[in-house]
Amino acid sequence: MFSIPTENRTTHPLRASQPKTEHRRRYAPPNQKPHTASVMRLATEHRKPQTLCASPPKTEHRRRYAPPHRKPNTADVTRLPTENRETLNIFFFAEQLLFHYFCENYPIFMNILTLTANPFQVNTYIVYNSDKQAIIIDPACSNPEEQNYFIREIDKHGLTPAMILLTHGHIDHILGCGFMREHYKIPVFAHEFTEIFIAQAESSADLFGLHLSHPPVIDKFIEHEQTIGIDQISFKAFHTPGHASGSLCFYSETSELVFSGDVLFQQSIGRTDLPTGDMDVLLFHIRKYLLTLPPQTIVYPGHGPKTTIENEIHTNPFL
Ligand SMILES: [Zn+2]
Ligand SMILES: [Zn+2]
Repeated sequence: MFSIPTENRTTHPLRASQPKTEHRRRYAPPNQKPHTASVMRLATEHRKPQTLCASPPKTEHRRRYAPPHRKPNTADVTRLPTENRETLNIFFFAEQLLFHYFCENYPIFMNILTLTANPFQVNTYIVYNSDKQAIIIDPACSNPEEQNYFIREIDKHGLTPAMILLTHGHIDHILGCGFMREHYKIPVFAHEFTEIFIAQAESSADLFGLHLSHPPVIDKFIEHEQTIGIDQISFKAFHTPGHASGSLCFYSETSELVFSGDVLFQQSIGRTDLPTGDMDVLLFHIRKYLLTLPPQTIVYPGHGPKTTIENEIHTNPFL
């Protein structure tokens, strides 16, 4: 039911930089620490530097250009008192005016649950509609403890997962793919070029001393500019290689947000020194499909805090 932008986007999430997790935690602006509360407390020996998606040093710019708070949304508006509506016609009329005002001026609200997991601190996003149907983006739970944590959070919010979307096939983003697919009996969607990473998933996990309880599987391919989603939630997929072949960004025009995987981060971009990486290709796709989005678009990256297109245009040293 939502219209979606017609531009294309493709990216590749690995970037060439230094470890970022500690920097990010230490220097993230106070109002940009949405993930810290949900970060899994992993054994410190597993908290080795991220080798798949590093980021550059943070600066004061970040604090200064912190994304503005989200505007009120229609969900808030519709929570107006409902008693006495029959008798208070004037109040009802005012409510309708408010409703139309907010509908026309503010983005459609999308519920987003962020769960950060595994030694690479990947952000798994669970977006859900008013019926509590959910889409899981990059299930990153890597062991039974994290798997149980994810299930508890999903249960706690009363959600029913309907599908899994993969931004790309790097091992840190697919560690929980097979498990969640099996547990909820839901299909996995990804770009066809992600298959090559899926096929090597077990050996990739071994490299990092990780174990895949269930091998990842792709059930259906997503094409560039294809629209995908569930009732009330719709994304346009943009193929954005350069970090990893098959990288996708999922954009919602109506909710003014994009899930960027490892293509674009707060003040960084995906590293390009891993197989299928290419800096020129990555920058091309970022500029073509992400930087052309409305400036207020919120960017939900595969690692670290969210940002906005406007912030990155002004402060990202790689762009
Ligand atoms: Zn990656
Ligand atoms: Zn990553």
